[in-house]
Amino acid sequence: MGWSEEQLEFRASLRRFADSEIAPSRFELESGRQPPYEVLRRYYAEFQVGDEALARFQATMDDRSIPRANPAEILLPIIEFSRQGPGLVTSLGVSTSLAPTSILRAGNAEQKMRWVPDLLTFTSIGAWALTEPDSGSDAFGGMRSRATRVDGGYLLNGSKTFVTNGPYADTIVYFAKLANSDGVDKVTSFVLDGNIPGLSRSAPLDKMGLHSSPTGDLHLIDVFVEADRHLATNRGPRDRSSHTRARATFAAERASVAAMSLGVIERCLELSIEYARARIQFGDSIGTFQLVQEMLARIEMARYNVENMLLRYLQDVETGDRPTLAAASVMKLYAASAASQAASDAVQIHGGSGYMASSHVEQLFRDARVLQIYGGTDQMQILEVAKDLLRVPSVNR
Ligand SMILES: Cc1cc2nc3c(=O)[nH]c(=O)nc-3n(C[C@H](O)[C@H](O)[C@H](O)COP(=O)(O)OP(=O)(O)OC[C@H]3O[C@@H](n4cnc5c(N)ncnc54)[C@H](O)[C@@H]3O)c2cc1C
Repeated sequence: MGWSEEQLEFRASLRRFADSEIAPSRFELESGRQPPYEVLRRYYAEFQVGDEALARFQATMDDRSIPRANPAEILLPIIEFSRQGPGLVTSLGVSTSLAPTSILRAGNAEQKMRWVPDLLTFTSIGAWALTEPDSGSDAFGGMRSRATRVDGGYLLNGSKTFVTNGPYADTIVYFAKLANSDGVDKVTSFVLDGNIPGLSRSAPLDKMGLHSSPTGDLHLIDVFVEADRHLATNRGPRDRSSHTRARATFAAERASVAAMSLGVIERCLELSIEYARARIQFGDSIGTFQLVQEMLARIEMARYNVENMLLRYLQDVETGDRPTLAAASVMKLYAASAASQAASDAVQIHGGSGYMASSHVEQLFRDARVLQIYGGTDQMQILEVAKDLLRVPSVNR
């Protein structure tokens, strides 16, 4: 397993873009002073990402068959841009993948045509609002946002927090509970415009890291939405096709966190090698000290493992052997903590310089931490893996 020539060329072109278009603005982006959308739109234009996504969408809507998107083409930009910092791809992924995928999964044809093309082309900025102040890991069980039926539509009330792109989003997929005909509450979703009356949103929240990805709160008081904003087509977990698609979406999301982790680890390794060669202490470069070598070897071990996991994932997807959710969880769990540890080792190798805000490893250390929290915390990944292990009776899996 390895990257093909074509993939390596693609990576090189992405690196050139990141070096010329992202790196010079890194401090502005990672201080939160510059929202990420302009630079991301330049990437979309230069690599014609939106055009391809749109062609694929239109083919699906017309029921024409078209080759599936190459998963490596999705993961390689994530890896490359995460070398600068995983914030940009977080913002991009929520807007162009998580939000439109939810509409594609649960919307009718009209709703898909109305919102998905602008999200896929990054013409509009998307957000995906599930987490609430009192419901995070138990997002569905503890949800308080509520929709009630009124003449011509629904009234929505509730609050969401930690919403990526929340402060700037044009189109928001909002989850709320709605009583079904038997009076039982079911989680469902609605599409809101960012300027809909009754919706207020916070400024970007101050965070530990990931500053290039704006995160915010949303508050809804008696927000009226017409019935055609309700994404009601999803037939629920008993519908096999919707269940399979949901599994594929979760697996892809977890793979993208592993790709972000790889970008972080790669950059930490490069910077640490450079520094270990250049920094002289006790009359020698610190790279000659075995305790420093150990940290370098540990980062390389993380890089090697995470890259192999991603290559295996790509191979499975390409051969149609869809990874189980548990396999994707293993990958996310391992990759995220490996990235945090690698970034911590990189700071240690850089000593006091690594603690300075001017150092790239300082930023990557703060950024990496979120990989163990969002997209399902480490603990939730562990539960997912264990659930799967215990459900399958045979040890020969
Ligand atoms: C930068 C950032 C961006 C985000 N973007 C979005 C977004 O766009 N949209 C969105 O909807 N959400 C978003 N989130 C929210 C994210 O998905 C949640 O933070 C995450 O799911 C954890 O929920 P929580 O923060 O409420 O923690 P909690 O669920 O309260 O967890 C607190 C601790 O308890 C542990 N825990 C909880 N339940 C169990 C259990 N059953 N067993 C063992 N341990 C448990 C957790 O692992 C964790 O260690 C974002 C978060 C961050 C930080």
